[in-house]
Amino acid sequence: MSGFGRLLLAVTIGCASVPFRDARASETATAEEKPALVASDVRLTAARDQMALEMDFDQPPAFTLHYVDEPPRLILDLPKTVFTRPDTAVKSHGIVKSVRYGTMSEGQARMVITLAEPLRVTHSEAVPGAGGKGAVLRIDGEKITPDAFRALVSAQTWADPQAEKPKDQLALLSSPVAGDRFLVAVDAGHGGIDTGATSPDGETVEKDITLQFARALVDELNARPGFEAFLTRDKDEFISLSRRVAIARERRANLFISLHADKLRQSDIRGATVYTISDRASDTLSASLAERENLSDELAGIAASDEPEEVADILLDLTRRETQAFAVTFADHIIESFRGQVELINNPHRSAGFIVLGAPEIPSVLLELGFLSNRKDVEALTDPERQKLIARLLGDAIDGYRNQGTAKAGQGG
Ligand SMILES: [Zn+2]
Repeated sequence: MSGFGRLLLAVTIGCASVPFRDARASETATAEEKPALVASDVRLTAARDQMALEMDFDQPPAFTLHYVDEPPRLILDLPKTVFTRPDTAVKSHGIVKSVRYGTMSEGQARMVITLAEPLRVTHSEAVPGAGGKGAVLRIDGEKITPDAFRALVSAQTWADPQAEKPKDQLALLSSPVAGDRFLVAVDAGHGGIDTGATSPDGETVEKDITLQFARALVDELNARPGFEAFLTRDKDEFISLSRRVAIARERRANLFISLHADKLRQSDIRGATVYTISDRASDTLSASLAERENLSDELAGIAASDEPEEVADILLDLTRRETQAFAVTFADHIIESFRGQVELINNPHRSAGFIVLGAPEIPSVLLELGFLSNRKDVEALTDPERQKLIARLLGDAIDGYRNQGTAKAGQGG
């Protein structure tokens, strides 16, 4: 019972300028041993200028609240939590544009409330549930001006661990590559709170498909002499786009491949697409796809200002240009390897400004394995034999790329 008492006292917000956090934050040392919270229901009532949110838990939740701008969002961080209902069940309205929740990392869950208008939390507390069973977390908020919201954001003393900045770009360019192995970073798109696309029947989720394929590809490559592969994520957790790039760069990967299976409005379009990076998108479909992919960090509640600053440097420019040419060659190898065995869309090599393809010295491609909006693609993507075949064909493409001799033996000259 003591948990409730302290929570009540500490998290009730009176003053807008004080960043709020819960009373049990200092007790997180023992949080890992605790069983996951179970969140069974979320109720949202909103008008154009206010909202009231209630969440049912099996036990009193430790929680923290933060504000993030551009667009205005309210971030609710929780310990490890099992959500028994999908966030799509919460119908947003009024001042609330969308509600999303899920796993961030081991031991951390998050709810991101994206707002139509800036909002200030007027009251937040965890109270005992009906009949003394479980707990109800209540969060009330009211509309404020954009200026007042900006003031709230800057008054916070909060560094989002998820928004960790990658290391210095130029330092990474000049650091040596270890050994003669050919190292491939395999990036399973989406994860955790960012589920990616979902098939029309709701059965197939992109973040699961990408991880299955990524695992198959890593196994395939690690079984080939001279190759080594690793995953940027090996479980259902959220990793920011810049963090994915940073992981590959810190490991000094020779190649980066990001796996996806998105959906389109046109359900008749099917087949694989290989994307490389470009300032200007090759076509409108690619432009809108990159735009959606690049929203990943935003929907996980990460502030736009946390993106790494662009470094203006001639060496970096030259490296980028060279890397881009290698990526195009690699894309050609994939298409060649797939042709006749894997369905491809029209003009299967396309380009757009994907953030995740931004490593300046690592040739990077984003492979759309197929579309979850197409029934035949869903069938193919969920077939383990098909996953193995594609992993093998990708292995052949990577092999061919390396053997062509144009492949970068190392980075940074
Ligand atoms: Zn995707």
